[in-house]
Parts: sequence; C-alpha cells; structure tokens
Amino acid sequence: MTKPPLTLYLAAPRGFCAGVDRAIKIVEMALQKWGAPVYVRHEIVHNKFVVDSLRDQGAVFVEELDDCPVDRPVIFSAHGVPKAIPAEAARREMVYVDATCPLVSKVHIEAARHHENGLQMIMIGHAGHPETIGTMGQLPEGEVLLVETVEDVAHVEVRDPQQLAFVTQTTLSVDDTIDIVAALRDRFPAIVGPHKEDICYATTNRQEAVKAIAPDCDALLVVGAPNSSNSRRLVEVARKAGCPYSQLVMRAENIDWRALEGIASIGVTAGASAPEVLIDEVIDAFRARWDVTVKLVETAQENVEFKVPRVLRIPA
Ligand code: SF4
Repeated sequence: MTKPPLTLYLAAPRGFCAGVDRAIKIVEMALQKWGAPVYVRHEIVHNKFVVDSLRDQGAVFVEELDDCPVDRPVIFSAHGVPKAIPAEAARREMVYVDATCPLVSKVHIEAARHHENGLQMIMIGHAGHPETIGTMGQLPEGEVLLVETVEDVAHVEVRDPQQLAFVTQTTLSVDDTIDIVAALRDRFPAIVGPHKEDICYATTNRQEAVKAIAPDCDALLVVGAPNSSNSRRLVEVARKAGCPYSQLVMRAENIDWRALEGIASIGVTAGASAPEVLIDEVIDAFRARWDVTVKLVETAQENVEFKVPRVLRIPA
C-alpha cells in the first residue's frame, strides 16, 4: 500500500540546552566519583526518559532533603533551590553538588543584589514551579512578590513603588512576558529590571523556531514532559502562531494518531529537557505511516556550553 505524502517541518534549535546537558553530566560524574546511590533532589531535569536512565545507573530521586541519608551525596536540580536547602545540607555535613543552570544562578544573583540595594522584588513566574520556588527562596520569606499575568500586576501590593525591581523565570513565553513587563513598567515607572527579561537563550530560540514553522503546519508536536515549563510554552506558541493542532507528547507512543488523520504537514520540536533519541523515535513513527519528507527549519545556531565542575564540590 502506498503511503500518503507528509512534509515534516523539523524545528532547529530544539531539545537539549546547555543547562540540561550540564546537569545530566554532573549526575553521571557524581555516580562515577562516589558510586551508587547518589541522591538527586527533584527530577534533575523534567524528562522521564532522562530520569529513568539515571535511575538505572544508581541515582535516587527524592523531593526533600529529609529523604536523603546524610552519608550519601545529594545533587540539586538544574531548576535551582532556595538558599535554605544548601545551607541545611551543609549544617548536616552532607556532600552536595549544585547542578543549578548558570542562567538560573544569574537570576538568583540579580535578585540578591537588588535586595541588598533595598529594593523589593517582583518575580514574573509560574507559582509552584521549582525554579520560581528556588528564585523566590534566595531572599527572606515575603520579600519576593509573584506575578503570573498582566491581571496580577494590577493587584500586586508593594511597599514603595519607587523601590522596586523585577526578575523573571527563564522558561516563560517571550511574548506573554513582554506584556507583563510592559504592565509593570506602566504601573511602576521606577521599577528596575533586566534590559528585557531573564528568559534564557534556549527558551527564546526554541520559541522562535516554532513560530517559523507553525503557520505552515496542519499540526505540531512538542516532545517534552507535562511538567516542563519551556515545553508547555512551545505548545502555546505554536497555537498562537496559527497552527490549528498543537500537542505535547512524551514520546512516540503518546501520539494521538486519530487526531492527525488527513494532515499533509506536521511540525516537530522538543523542549530543552527532551533528548534527541525521543525526537528520532517520533520521526520514525511518522515514517511508518506516511511517505515523509523532512524539512529542517533552522532559525538560530547554538554553541553555548557550560563547564561542568571538574572537582565536585564538598562543603567544608
Ligand atoms: S532552559 Fe535555559 S535556564 Fe533552563 S536549564 Fe536550559 S539553558 Fe538553563
């Protein structure tokens, strides 16, 4: 039986970013250095495939420091942790390694600097996301106000409108954040912040690539996990850019083939924590059903690499 033709627009950049790559390498190095088990507080990156493969090598994933024995090393995830967590690990004399992405650490430093200068902080982010919890946790309780939407900006109550600064989560929608920053600057003209926002290069580039392909796609799939903020934003970006059907899939087995009946074009991308092997799996699944022509659409080239600490740090 001849297969129907399908144009598959493959977005680039897609998938792993430098922060995710570094965090995974840190867990692998820790396993090599100390042997199993090595504990990891929270999923090192939001991807089940990655977490399962590290678990197979001897990593144990827990949600709280209390779940880690004091005589085994613990690694903090790429999303960052509140200041109190490494402080508590040091108090317990635990060996710990911080795999926080350097671009998240940069936001932590920004928030701390503004606080030292006497400014009250506003964070644009998603409530409950580990990165938001980690960034807000750099300052004493109550010192960071969270806004998630333009509507929130209208209601936020600040100490002094003249003494304000803002930071953002790194994995937000670029377009939505522009609107929230504009609303903040409008209501609080003296607010201090980054030139645009703190959204990282990887989030920005993946959203730009999706915008480039979405209008040409009958449907678009984002390979990523439901708890991955940057992956979920890609689904929204595709819809806003005009793609009528945009869905998140963890891997090929999650694709709803009935929803794709009759399509002539498909877009494929992946969030920053999804490995390329899962994208290949998705493309192969399309090849099994259609006569696929892959068109790579590259909107940016990435050569960012973060150094992995050669010696994993042990607290004094
Ligand atoms: S998405 Fe951005 S901030 Fe998050 S780990 Fe990757 S590079 Fe770092």
